[in-house]
Amino acid sequence: MKAWNHASASQVRTYRRCNRKWWYQYLYGLVAPSSPAAALGSAVHKALETRIKTGAWPTDAKKDVLSIAKSGWDRVPMPNNPANVEKRFSFQPEGSPVPIIGFIDLVCPDTSTIIDHKTTSSPRWMKMPEELRADPQGVIYSSVAEKLFDFSYPITFRHIYYMTKGKRGSAATSVTFFGPTELVPGLERIVETVKAMAIDAKKTDPLRVEANDAACGDYGGCPFKDTCYNHREKENKIMSLDAFSALLAKGKKEVVAINSPEGPPPAVVEEEPKGKPLVEVLTDDAIPGADALIQRMDEADQVAHERSETTPKKRGRPAKGPFLPDGRPVAKLKKGELVSILSAMLEGGDMTIHLAKPEPDYLIAPTLYIGCIPRRLGPGAIYLDDFLLPYQKAVADDEGQAHFLAIDFGKGPKLVAAAVALAAANGLALPSELIADRHSPCANAVIQALAPHYAVVERLG
Ligand code: SF4
Repeated sequence: MKAWNHASASQVRTYRRCNRKWWYQYLYGLVAPSSPAAALGSAVHKALETRIKTGAWPTDAKKDVLSIAKSGWDRVPMPNNPANVEKRFSFQPEGSPVPIIGFIDLVCPDTSTIIDHKTTSSPRWMKMPEELRADPQGVIYSSVAEKLFDFSYPITFRHIYYMTKGKRGSAATSVTFFGPTELVPGLERIVETVKAMAIDAKKTDPLRVEANDAACGDYGGCPFKDTCYNHREKENKIMSLDAFSALLAKGKKEVVAINSPEGPPPAVVEEEPKGKPLVEVLTDDAIPGADALIQRMDEADQVAHERSETTPKKRGRPAKGPFLPDGRPVAKLKKGELVSILSAMLEGGDMTIHLAKPEPDYLIAPTLYIGCIPRRLGPGAIYLDDFLLPYQKAVADDEGQAHFLAIDFGKGPKLVAAAVALAAANGLALPSELIADRHSPCANAVIQALAPHYAVVERLG
């Protein structure tokens, strides 16, 4: 285990996406293998740094590195001082348990501008201004510029993007903060994140650090996936051997004891599973586990329908599932509460945890965004990864796997798509704006299944 004594913008970003991934990288010491894209990005940064510091392009840089770096040179503010390149900082906002450190590619005090160079294979990965405004890097760097480098407002934070594939070219996204009050809420959120990191930094067992399964497919797959799945596998075995099976046995015995005065429990008549077969929904071969899934979706529809009848409609982003039978989302429970509820459910003979069902919001035409996002997110907007989470969990559970990606022969994403398609065909209220990253493991199959349900499909590339 490594000692943890500072945070950074990239740590905050990683932690917010998956607490456990952050823990593996910054506490457990796992190193993500370097990719050719990352190596190219470093070389371009180095070339730009040399150009600003010495006034000349490096002579030992490769041709393609130079052509990429030169493509965005006219976007770099001039003149610039060599002392302002790769500015190291250490900044401890009020309430933060540790300092936040980092390097800023270029600061320009004369124009109150901060520059961060980014290499990218396609414009589709560029951040929009509103994303940059909320990005930890933009908030931290702009706060640092004001507090440590005496920048005066308005302060501009700019990403310069250098295209690494296809025709050489560059682009930029900027965001301007007109006063400190615009930075305060973002900085407070960052401090809260760093406080949560400090709590997780004390943990020695990764399974006590929260995992986000929706992040496992990011950027071609989490580099720590094998370690993460091995740890989960180990926990599953321990649970099935002792604590959980003992709990199950206890629950079953008590249910029988309650029934016994009235005689033997009534015979259970197996009902035919309802709904369309999954193979009708997706044009693919038969999918294992389909019957169980259909049954589960029917139950989820039933519970969601009952909930929508009794619960007043709320605006904004729907709560994430799974839900308990009384409608409370599992994610909102306090630590330890779930175990006691599960025990009570066992004693009552009800172990059902149901899937989430987003509420409809049709103020705007239902739109599916593929590889792009709207400039302004509506109240019903949701990212595909978040939307799929309960379905991915249900599929993994049905197949007895810790994660849907662990299902054999790449069938996991298809099963997830089938589950969502089936729910949609049976009246699932889809989000009014669904934002799909095509690189997510389920994206292609789910887009194919859901596109016919959307009035508008916006696509980039
Ligand atoms: S495999 Fe998934 S859950 Fe595990 S650390 Fe990586 S992103 Fe997080």
